[in-house]
Amino acid sequence: MVNPIKIGGVETFSTVDFPDKIAAVVFMQGCPWRCPFCHNAVLQDINASDNFIWEKFVEFLESRKKVLDGVVFSGGEPLVQDGLEKAIEQVKAMGFQIGLHTGGYRPKHFEKVLPLVDWVGFDIKAPLEEKRYQKAVGINLNLDDVKASLNMLLKSGKDFECRTTCDPRILSIADVAEIGQELSDLGVKKYFLQKYRPIESDKTTSDADCEQFFLDRNLLDELKNKFSVFDIRK
Ligand code: SF4
Repeated sequence: MVNPIKIGGVETFSTVDFPDKIAAVVFMQGCPWRCPFCHNAVLQDINASDNFIWEKFVEFLESRKKVLDGVVFSGGEPLVQDGLEKAIEQVKAMGFQIGLHTGGYRPKHFEKVLPLVDWVGFDIKAPLEEKRYQKAVGINLNLDDVKASLNMLLKSGKDFECRTTCDPRILSIADVAEIGQELSDLGVKKYFLQKYRPIESDKTTSDADCEQFFLDRNLLDELKNKFSVFDIRK
């Protein structure tokens, strides 16, 4: 059987990728973006060779029905692959809840996948202004695509969170405050800041640079007041 999706890796047991659920995570191959802080650069190339066979993963899931609550489709960027919908349908039919990690690339595909999904972790890379967003994702994207996906998610009533990786080479404290304001204005209820851990090629960013966001009381208080759920992930 042909694999419906190209998988770059799997995590067989995770308590941190799907809130309040024990989940397996599928890291899908391929991402159109080139975020300077990416720790999954090996997943970026959609043409990289397949490391995992989908049917083997499904067999594994069969044996874990009593242990796992859900399956998270992560990346890379899962919306790159047309087979995502089919893969989700197959896993959902087995009784698993479905999580999706995405940056909102390809809203037309997101529209098809969203009804099948129980929870979404939506990455917000920068303030919602095209040039600044392009700097954060490393390519000339059309920001309207990200906005369309986020609006769709807001209207869907699905459970979701937004999260931002605080890379001090890209974002200032004022930028993060601005993102918080924009998301709150849009009606986002759950927001998380993630600590940037310098990638191997980054020899100049210090831990203090990365920590500055989480030591700024004004920023943290402001964000706590704006969202029903706000937290930091280090
Ligand atoms: S969207 Fe994610 S996988 Fe793609 S380049 Fe950015 S951090 Fe890496």
